[in-house]
Amino acid sequence: MPWARGVGSGAVSDRELVVLGTASQAPTRSRNHNGYLLRWDGEGVLFDPGEGTQRQMLFAGVSASHITGICITHFHGDHCLGLPGVLQRMSLDRVRHTVQACYPAQNQDVFTRLRHAALFREVTNLRERPVTGGGTVIEAASFRVEAQPLSHSVPAIGYRLAEPGGRRMLPGKLAALGITGPDVGRLQRQGSLAVGGRLVSLEQVSEPRPGQRFAFIMDTRLCDGAFALADGADMVVCESTFADADAALAHKYGHLTARQAGRIAAEAGARLLVLTHFSQRYEHDDSPRLADQAAAAFGGQIVLASDLDRIPVPPRHPPAA
Ligand SMILES: [Zn+2]
Repeated sequence: MPWARGVGSGAVSDRELVVLGTASQAPTRSRNHNGYLLRWDGEGVLFDPGEGTQRQMLFAGVSASHITGICITHFHGDHCLGLPGVLQRMSLDRVRHTVQACYPAQNQDVFTRLRHAALFREVTNLRERPVTGGGTVIEAASFRVEAQPLSHSVPAIGYRLAEPGGRRMLPGKLAALGITGPDVGRLQRQGSLAVGGRLVSLEQVSEPRPGQRFAFIMDTRLCDGAFALADGADMVVCESTFADADAALAHKYGHLTARQAGRIAAEAGARLLVLTHFSQRYEHDDSPRLADQAAAAFGGQIVLASDLDRIPVPPRHPPAA
């Protein structure tokens, strides 16, 4: 079986996707509307909080203070109607750190209405980051968030979170040169180290280590932006609203089939594909069919997301051979 459900349930990881909801247009008995929190070291990026997100956070053991960024792909209700509740809960809980909120700039008016949908005393330092076109939208300590336009029926963007690349130390080369203990750290910090009368550079005893990459692709047809976001990603969260039989509907309404999600992951050389945003026409019994259709296009690992799953971000992509 190339796919698994509930991977890592209950596991503790510094970098993981907490799935708050997995339904598209209408929730079902087993699926809440969309919502995802990406925990990344000390940061928490909330993606597309649909209706009911605040309560799902409670079930998932996520508090409002965990949120340090909010990324909204577009303003259809299943991707944003949870925003008013989440923002007000952050103020209720006295979350005072800066929270950056990204969303398509074309719909600034909708964001403003959601932010001020009800009366409350706002104490959170929410920084609005309307996104026009693409490029870097957030620079955090250990990653940057980039956006790309997608092809949907309303302005839509996808996101990519990328950690800067580093270097992986090579124990064999270190040992051959007799570099051990605190000298290893010294070499990493200084970039070079005098060993037995000669200078050893960091490059001689290490290799490039690509940073971890995460992609979040919601409502869209196949488009360049989707492939660019997924490029080399360790984890791709992708909508798979429809099955093959409904491919014409998917195109008409600006969505992907599960097989197309698989194709994006395959062409982008992704490692793990998380399928979500399921149409209410497929209930749980139907879901394996979607995973099978994605697996026909993508040979990597596929997770069919369920509400409240915690899915660890896989280890960094290995360097290209
Ligand atoms: Zn939509």
